Amino acid sequence: MTTDHTNTPIALAAVRQRILDAEAEFGLPAGSVRLIAVSKTKPASQILAAIDAGQRDFGENYLDEAVPKIEELAENSCRWHFIGNIQSNKTRHVAAFFDWAHCVDREKIALRLSRQRPDHLRALNVCIQVNIDNEVNKSGVFDAEALALADQISQLPNIRLRGLMAIPSPGSDFEAQRKPFARMRRLFEQLRKTHPSMDTLSMGMSADLRAAIAEGATMVRIGTAIFGARPAK
Ligand SMILES: *Cc1c(COP(=O)(O)O)cnc(C)c1O
Repeated sequence: MTTDHTNTPIALAAVRQRILDAEAEFGLPAGSVRLIAVSKTKPASQILAAIDAGQRDFGENYLDEAVPKIEELAENSCRWHFIGNIQSNKTRHVAAFFDWAHCVDREKIALRLSRQRPDHLRALNVCIQVNIDNEVNKSGVFDAEALALADQISQLPNIRLRGLMAIPSPGSDFEAQRKPFARMRRLFEQLRKTHPSMDTLSMGMSADLRAAIAEGATMVRIGTAIFGARPAK
């Protein structure tokens, strides 16, 4: 797979087409699924190539590299999504530099994000990360804990509960990939009854975006298929 900057617009167009195809296949309005281009480990110049091709939502996992890129690209009115684990010592920068935080899984982190959100910015959009396959050593709440955390988050003034996020364990084929996403959809619909501000299901990556869209993903987070393979971390 090539990773050079001239290939980025072509790869981005191909991913957009995959999303359009899935929307059509599963009876969704064209353009209803939002693409988050995951640019972790990639240079600002490659992000700029995507911006020039019309992309505005970007996902980053590591603050140390994300903040300088966000500052460098500040004039491009991008929306930045923090999609990494949030430890307590990272909340201040997430609150200051990002529009979305996808991986909130504890009240303590939510409290800090709300308290540290700068006054001049709108409320930070947050998703609750769900450990949908009940994996050991994986971040995210178990599905039975999601409602309590949603109740807590919705009390906080400077963050806004937007939805749920998950990274299921890799499924071997479409049907296997679909199952955890279907559980996410059910949980999402259940929580929405008491939390109508929830409008976002953040799920689906390069390898499983079609299965995620089949089960109602409203945001897909795609890195490799747009920007090329990443160095092993
Ligand atoms: C890296 C990452 C992605 C993108 O994964 P690809 O397989 O490269 O598309 C999506 N979501 C999260 C949380 C990630 O860390």
